[in-house]
Amino acid sequence: MNIILFGAPGAGKGTQSSLLIERKNMFQISTGDLFRSAIKNKTELGKKAQDYMVRGELVPDSIVIGMVEEVLQGQKKDFILDGFPRTVAQAEALDTLTSKMNIKIDKAIFVHVPKTELLGRLSGRRVCKNCGAVYHLKAKPTRKPDVCDACGGEVVQRPDDHESVIETRLKAYEDYTSPLKEYYKKLGKYFEVDGNQASESVYGKIEALLN
Ligand code: AMP
Repeated sequence: MNIILFGAPGAGKGTQSSLLIERKNMFQISTGDLFRSAIKNKTELGKKAQDYMVRGELVPDSIVIGMVEEVLQGQKKDFILDGFPRTVAQAEALDTLTSKMNIKIDKAIFVHVPKTELLGRLSGRRVCKNCGAVYHLKAKPTRKPDVCDACGGEVVQRPDDHESVIETRLKAYEDYTSPLKEYYKKLGKYFEVDGNQASESVYGKIEALLN
C-alpha cells in the first residue's frame, strides 16, 4: 500500500515514517530530507531550495514536483510520501504523475496534533548532523549534551526550527497544506489519526490503516 502522511510541521511524520521503514519495509520519500541533503551536497537543487527553507516558506511547486517525479521512477517498494504533497497544486500533479506511472496512492493519512503542542515539539527538536537521528531537549535528550547517542555526530537545531521561523512554517501549513484534507476527502482517501500520543500508539493507529 502506498500512503501519504501529512500534517503540520512537528506532527511526527518523520518518526512514523522511520517506524514504517523498519517494520513494514516501506520506502520513505521525504521532500524535506531530499532538500536538506541537496543543500548539504551543494547541488543546483539545493541552491534553489535553500533560501525558501531558511525562511520557513514553501519551495515552489515546480521544483518539488520535478524532484518527486525523479524519485518515483522505478520505485518498487510500497512507499510513504512524507511532506509531499503540501499544496493542492502538488496533489493534482501527483495524481497526474501516478496515473501516468500506473501507481496507486491508497490513503492520505492526516496526523493531527494541536498547535500548542507543535510549538514545544519544534522549538525543542534537535537533529544529528551526521545520521539525522532526531532528539528533543526535554522529551528525548541525548545522553551527552549535543552528541548523538547513535553515531557520536554533532546534534544541532535545524535552522528552520528557530522560533522566528516556526510561525512562518505553521502559517504555510495552515494556508496551503490544510486544504489537502478536503482534497483527499473528496477522493475518498482521507484518514485521520490522533498524533498527540506516544509514538508507539500513533504507529498502532497507522498500522491498523495499512491492514
Ligand atoms: P520538512 O522537513 O518536511 O519540515 O520540510 C522542511 C522545508 O522544506 C519546508 O519548510 C519547505 O521549505 C521545504 N519543503 C519540504 N517539502 C516541501 C513541499 N512538498 N513543498 C514545498 N516545500 C517543501
